[in-house]
Amino acid sequence: MRAVDIICKKRDRQELSAEEIDFFIQGFVRGDIPDYQVSAWAMAVLLNGMTDKETTFLTLSMAHSGATIDLAGLVPFVVDKHSTGGVGDKTSLVVEPIVAACGLPVGKMSGRGLGFSGGTIDKMESIPGFRTNLTKEEFIDQLRSAGVVLTGQSNDLAPADGKLYALRDVTGTVPSIPLIASSIMSKKIAAGAHGIVLDVKVGLGAFMGTVDEAEKLAALMVRIGKLSNRKVVALLTDMNQPLGKAVGNALEVKEAIDTLHGKGPQDFVEHCLVVASHMLLLGNKASTQDQARSKALEVLSNGSAWQKFHQLVKAQGGDVRVIDHPELLPNAAYVQEIESPDSGYLTQVHARILGEAAVKIGAGRAKKADAIDHAVGLVVHKKVGDFVKRGEALVTLHVQKEEQYNQIRDEILTAFQMTNKPCEPLPLFYGVIE
Ligand code: URA
Repeated sequence: MRAVDIICKKRDRQELSAEEIDFFIQGFVRGDIPDYQVSAWAMAVLLNGMTDKETTFLTLSMAHSGATIDLAGLVPFVVDKHSTGGVGDKTSLVVEPIVAACGLPVGKMSGRGLGFSGGTIDKMESIPGFRTNLTKEEFIDQLRSAGVVLTGQSNDLAPADGKLYALRDVTGTVPSIPLIASSIMSKKIAAGAHGIVLDVKVGLGAFMGTVDEAEKLAALMVRIGKLSNRKVVALLTDMNQPLGKAVGNALEVKEAIDTLHGKGPQDFVEHCLVVASHMLLLGNKASTQDQARSKALEVLSNGSAWQKFHQLVKAQGGDVRVIDHPELLPNAAYVQEIESPDSGYLTQVHARILGEAAVKIGAGRAKKADAIDHAVGLVVHKKVGDFVKRGEALVTLHVQKEEQYNQIRDEILTAFQMTNKPCEPLPLFYGVIE
């Protein structure tokens, strides 16, 4: 078999066999198939799609590219959640500790930033010392001792996704249903969780622009999860405007810490409570949504969710002084507000424009080897439906140099559209697929 023939077959819209997919994926992981061939293949998949059968084979091949964790007999029920990617989406940092504090172990494998969307691993690496490349043994030990784990793909766990993810980020091959489904579900299968809540984002700042597309992606991932004997539920959630206020790595960690202290933005808190409730329901820690929500609220307000976050950071080598004193997180040198040029009701706070602006100022990558700047980002003060007065701050921009502010300010302002008539806030949720 030759990699080039597999690329041509996909280019010519033919269905790949399980053997061909496995040859390609394992060859890539071993280093026998170079990045340029894999990038060409990923673009062919993005343009021509895959059948459900191919996507399932791809997922399994990626899941088995490294070790897979079998938690049977070790931990009775482990739950996990995963977002399809959005702007300001720091949900995992809050719901993991909430759910673990309710007594349900959470074992999660996350990713880095992808295109304009941020990544949990990049965010957590704002905390000095925090390790995101745990081995299989470390993952299991920590799950048993702390009941909470948050790691990334490593040479040990889901290495195919780790490598493919980094290529997709910089080759325009992110928004593809088969590539997203296999990326997410391979990590979930490798990490062994028994129950999985999928947070499928829809809208301007998501890889799925419409509810229809998001439903297709959600249904495919639910089917793949069930084939691997996992309990899976998918929530379709809004990503037209950023979630919460902060966009950018350390800024999002700070907002997550505020939220765990009961001071989070209202939309973000509500989103976290709903995601956490679904996780608790999957793990039989509650029998109704209301009961699950009360449990989540209780651990948020009595400080035990915060204690769990502390335990997580400590267990993975993070400097806990930094989370106790978030002013020690990386700070940008130049912080300045962007004011509204007009008065009116906001009809649009375009998440993708804001996510792309964050990448351009250094919060994400343009090339595979780029380092990111954890300190930079933006804090968005207004939501769709809010009334804004001329001169009021729409955004506080955190950059390293004044020139960056001058270069990006006008682009950021294009994210905001307003009218003189009141307009409705956006919904947070569009549906649930079980
Ligand atoms: N999250 C992932 O892990 N992979 C994707 O492709 C998109 C979001």
